[in-house]
Amino acid sequence: MFRFLFPTDTAPSAYAYDYEKAFSRGIRGILFDIDNTLVPHDAPADRRAAALVKRLKDTGFSVMVVSNNEEPRVRSFAALTGADHLCRAMKPLPGGIRKAISMMGLSKASVLLVGDQLFTDILGANLAGIESLLVRPLDLSTDTPKIRFKRRLEYPVLKMYLRQKRLAKNS
Ligand SMILES: [Mg+2]
Repeated sequence: MFRFLFPTDTAPSAYAYDYEKAFSRGIRGILFDIDNTLVPHDAPADRRAAALVKRLKDTGFSVMVVSNNEEPRVRSFAALTGADHLCRAMKPLPGGIRKAISMMGLSKASVLLVGDQLFTDILGANLAGIESLLVRPLDLSTDTPKIRFKRRLEYPVLKMYLRQKRLAKNS
């Protein structure tokens, strides 16, 4: 029953993943969560985020930030990085993610969502029927109390996921 909370893959950071390999297997669109995925919570866009977006666009990806955060935050972040954006995505509801996919003009099978939270990003990606990459949050100390509470609930699910992954690898 927890499969809907399991990511397709994990990485130590959104900055430490082989996106080019994903491109070679047909992924063409990347949906990024912003807070604690590309920058610490509520931090402005930085050079590292802009450089990643540029690299991905140069590779041939469509890149969009899909955030539950408000318009000013999301729009300015997108403008500074050169990514397209969708704010108030209401993750984990799949509607915003589906809208982002159709804005990119891509099929579900060619889109990957990258995020740091199981109960918003990964659940949302699974409900929308797309691949997901769970990354470690950049700076836990910037989490809001609400997110901190959700993290506590994430740990047992993460443990189950990692155990299952280990079993699959050994079988
Ligand atoms: Mg986040």
